[in-house]
Amino acid sequence: MSESSVNFVAGLIESELVSKPNKIVQTRFPPEPNGYLHIGHAKSICLNFGLAKSFDGHCNLRFDDTNPTKEDTEYVDSIMDDVRWLGWQWHGEVRFASDYFEQMYNWAVELITKGKAYVDDLTGEEISEYRGNLTQAGKESPYRDRSVDENLDLFARMRAGEFKNGEKVLRAKIDMASPNMNLRDPLMYRILHEKHHRTGSTWCIYPMYDWAHGLEDAIEGVTHSICTLEFENHRPLYDWFLDTLESVPCHPQQIEFARLNLGYTVMSKRKLLQLVTEHHVDNWNDPRLPTISGLRRRGYPATAIRDFCERIGVTKYNSTTEIALLEHCVRENLNKSALRVMGVLDPVKLVVTNYPDGLTEELEAINNPENPDDGTRLIPFSKELWIERDDFREEASRKYHRLKPGQEVRLRYGYIVTCTGCLKDDDGIITEVHCTYDPETKGGHTPDGRRIKGTIHWVSAAHALDAEIRLYDSLFTDEDPADESDGRSFLDKINPESKTIIMGKIEPSLASAQAETAYQFERLAYFCADSEDSTSEKLVFNRTATLRDSWAKTQKK
Ligand code: ATP
Ligand code: MG
Repeated sequence: MSESSVNFVAGLIESELVSKPNKIVQTRFPPEPNGYLHIGHAKSICLNFGLAKSFDGHCNLRFDDTNPTKEDTEYVDSIMDDVRWLGWQWHGEVRFASDYFEQMYNWAVELITKGKAYVDDLTGEEISEYRGNLTQAGKESPYRDRSVDENLDLFARMRAGEFKNGEKVLRAKIDMASPNMNLRDPLMYRILHEKHHRTGSTWCIYPMYDWAHGLEDAIEGVTHSICTLEFENHRPLYDWFLDTLESVPCHPQQIEFARLNLGYTVMSKRKLLQLVTEHHVDNWNDPRLPTISGLRRRGYPATAIRDFCERIGVTKYNSTTEIALLEHCVRENLNKSALRVMGVLDPVKLVVTNYPDGLTEELEAINNPENPDDGTRLIPFSKELWIERDDFREEASRKYHRLKPGQEVRLRYGYIVTCTGCLKDDDGIITEVHCTYDPETKGGHTPDGRRIKGTIHWVSAAHALDAEIRLYDSLFTDEDPADESDGRSFLDKINPESKTIIMGKIEPSLASAQAETAYQFERLAYFCADSEDSTSEKLVFNRTATLRDSWAKTQKK
């Protein structure tokens, strides 16, 4: 393990294993099924599953489904899908916190019996008022000294549904003067007459996160309970519950790390939900979102996301990672793996005037110069081609190596052609570019070794397929859209040009392109067929990533 202990959590575990070599590392990924997973979750997934893998241990997938109001099975299913797609497999069955409700209830009874928990009748408002603040000690609730018997009776009646929402809560009896606010008699249970997506209406009391989480970990024999930094000062409470209960099977160690923040995006589930429900984006898997399903639909490979999570490392201090790093990982991965194809996004006709009418030749093209095993394919060539409008200039400087009258240019995998001029419509818009070809240069090679400076891409007009091309840009115009201190909501910072739709012409081999698999359109960018909307009648391609980093430029503007 030594050379891969790149993060401090792995370092901790490694030194622990020196004295306990037989300890089996057990981690867990504990999402609440109240939204889709995002790239921040991917960091936690890769950390938890990665540790289990490097130490030959296990990682559970556990749904922390303790809040019925916001949870749904749609989220459960999408989360399982996303974890698998990222390349991980959880240990045994999927776990649900809701399966432990009865056990948690019994442990709450144990605390009551020990005089360590009580039923409180204060309202939510009163409870926060009584809690005090950082400079002021809290005040004890008048119900704090109820007898064990009265507490047991009231708690049983809470469970039985005798009280309304908010009428009573169960609280731990710790210390209303503790400098750590989390220890000022924290809530353990609240009443919620609400149907749960798994337990239906069996329960009308639901455990609070801080109470439930350590118990869930202990039930599963978790050895290292890894969470984000906000929970650092909840750790004394995590430990208090586990230390105070005598019958818990083990006491996991909570370890905190810094969450991932990414520039030009939002990662709060509440904000992502709002973007979806208010239709600022198309759905949870909109390719502009940082959700795993959005990145996947955009064509990001799972290996690139894992690589990104590896590179950002795991630390104890919060920071913001540049989105350029994520894109860099995607580009680096796709440069190696993506098949090369040709497509034209702003087409103008190129007529090869001396090429025989009606003739089609099949020319050989290399699928991926980075990987000879990917072989070659045949692409049709004919008299009329589509090229990029920008690859022709009527007048251009000597440095312009693409088509201009009199200049020779290589058509990638095709022929060397010489531009002879163009046709225009009444408005002066170029409608056709004309050229002649040299039949001796098939494949784009010059038999006499003469140098051709420019190479352009093309598709045969008679064979090209029409495709809707969706060009994505950053969803937000601000680096930290969630910072609303300037009085503007994150919604005011949505980039109106985050999605541009154009019609392009693409080579026929792309008819069978697999959705979500990115191709490099030579000289342009990476694109993949859209998993939702692309059909054989109407091809739709998403731009996965540009060929080069465009952020440096954007930020200077
Ligand atoms: P919520 O506000 O709903 O709790 P959450 O983002 O914490 O939102 P969870 O479903 O509780 O969502 O998260 C599951 C796990 O993913 C937790 O262990 C959490 O610490 C981790 N996680 C969430 N966001 C990030 C992030 N940005 N970076 C790293 N880990 C994260
Ligand atoms: Mg959470």
